[in-house]
Amino acid sequence: MRSEFADGNGTLWADRRRLRDYAKVGRMLLLQRIVIYSSAIFLAGAYYNWWIALITYAFTLAAEIYDGATFRRILVTRQWTEKAVRRSMRDIYIGTAISATVISAFAISFAILQGPETGHFMPLFMLFSAAVFAAINNHHFLPVLALRLTIYVAAILYIPIRDLWIVRPPLSSELWLHFFTVLFVLGFIVECSRSFLVGYSNYLRNLHNLEREHERTKAAYKTKTQFLSTVSHELRTPLTSIKGSLEIISSGILGEPPEKMAKPLDIATRNARRLADLVNDLLLLQKAEAGKIDYFFENADVGDLVQEVVERFRPFADRRNISITTDPEASGHFARFDKVRLDQVITNLLSNATKFSYDDGEVRVMLSHHEGNVRISVSDDGIGISDASRPKIFQEFSQVDSTNARQFEGTGLGLNISKRIVEAHGGAIDFTSKPGVGSTFFIDLPEEDAPAQSAPVKDAA
Ligand code: ADP
Repeated sequence: MRSEFADGNGTLWADRRRLRDYAKVGRMLLLQRIVIYSSAIFLAGAYYNWWIALITYAFTLAAEIYDGATFRRILVTRQWTEKAVRRSMRDIYIGTAISATVISAFAISFAILQGPETGHFMPLFMLFSAAVFAAINNHHFLPVLALRLTIYVAAILYIPIRDLWIVRPPLSSELWLHFFTVLFVLGFIVECSRSFLVGYSNYLRNLHNLEREHERTKAAYKTKTQFLSTVSHELRTPLTSIKGSLEIISSGILGEPPEKMAKPLDIATRNARRLADLVNDLLLLQKAEAGKIDYFFENADVGDLVQEVVERFRPFADRRNISITTDPEASGHFARFDKVRLDQVITNLLSNATKFSYDDGEVRVMLSHHEGNVRISVSDDGIGISDASRPKIFQEFSQVDSTNARQFEGTGLGLNISKRIVEAHGGAIDFTSKPGVGSTFFIDLPEEDAPAQSAPVKDAA
């Protein structure tokens, strides 16, 4: 069994697993076994001899108590060492030897009481059942199963051989037929045990491979996260200075740039901004994945924030001649939110709504009460989203059009980050959409009563 698991750790892992499985099954069946043995012993007592039945019962109970204590010890052990494994194995061998011997002695005693030429239906059936039970439930360790089966097989063979020895019948006698039948059934028990053993070993090997694969995936994921985080940090500093310098040049503070430079300067500035946005999104995503975004929750009027974001965003929309209309009665909707983070989410929805709108379109921002929530919705009459694309929308790096020739800029991170932020608020984000007609993205935040003046509360989510 040991050679299946290549390294030393694998062997200890397999031993531990086998021990736990063995103890779990053993404990689960403890009561069932006691009921079966008690009924069988009681019947034997009633039909044959109470003394033998009672003595067997006492030994059986003692064996079960010993096994029960072993199972318990195995199941509570957390630190497995080679020594602890050896000690548990010793206890299992002792328990197995005692219980198999008690059952065999019990069956042999009644077979002797029955005398030869009685078929020994009861003791042989008892022993066969016990052997099949062991094959089904005690197949975790080959040597343990082998020990138990050897004791049962010895008893099963002893009963008909003893009859043959005493009676010395001719080969045509039924006693010989009993003996051959016993051999045949023993073959069946061996085959049954073998297939349970093989099945369990395969299960264990697959489980071990799966666990190793899981560990490897976890390590690769950690490396990816570390790499992304380091690269993003390293990119951010030079990028911020490039972006800042380009903006200063474009602003004309250093003197009006020549006409010929206007276009390349604009391209450079826009792309530096895009790169900076991507790096910031990447950093935020890493933080969100690690659950390290700090939130400063505050009970405040959502309408005020929405109005503020819309006014700040309006110039961007104006550039494409897209008008933004807001709910005229937007105030009086209170919720607990982090102003900076929710600002970011609404800005992202506005940015998408304008980006995916047709020129001269309209974006509507509304506030409403919805099933105990404050609902912020951002609607556009843009290109819309098909049902087939729906599952991708909130995934990381996911864009409906992800081809190189795509028409719209973006990283595919905005909605994923938005979802994480909204969920950290105990809220939800979703959308309805029709291709070619438009989309409505909405955020639901648990509604609060208007606050008594209070200080912000810091939460790490
Ligand atoms: P990005 O906009 O940076 O690509 P997002 O995560 O914000 O990333 O959006 C993911 C994708 O969802 C977008 O690329 C786009 O395909 C789709 N999408 C988001 N908002 C809209 C919208 N208002 N109309 C149509 N498609 C949208």
